[in-house]
Amino acid sequence: MDKDQLRDTYLRSGGKQCPFCGTELMTDDVTESPRYMRGYKDADRVLASVRCPTCHARWEEIFTLNNIDILYTPSPMEMLAAGVDGGGGSAQMIIDKE
Ligand SMILES: [Zn+2]
Repeated sequence: MDKDQLRDTYLRSGGKQCPFCGTELMTDDVTESPRYMRGYKDADRVLASVRCPTCHARWEEIFTLNNIDILYTPSPMEMLAAGVDGGGGSAQMIIDKE
């Protein structure tokens, strides 16, 4: 299999199976997980290093930003304190774009 086929196989498994030997990479118990992950942020993408415990293949998962979930909306007072003009107005602008 070439690299494109290996990638497609891996993505089809949802990142759960080694694309080379088919070993299940995920376990429910994190402490027993064979997956070694080292994530870091590079602007809008995160890379995670993965190693198969069975065949020792190594690859990198590439996560790209595609959505956000707003956890807290600042009050108009907080927007003013942050130096943003007319806090409520900014929020209204964002809503209008949808
Ligand atoms: Zn493997």
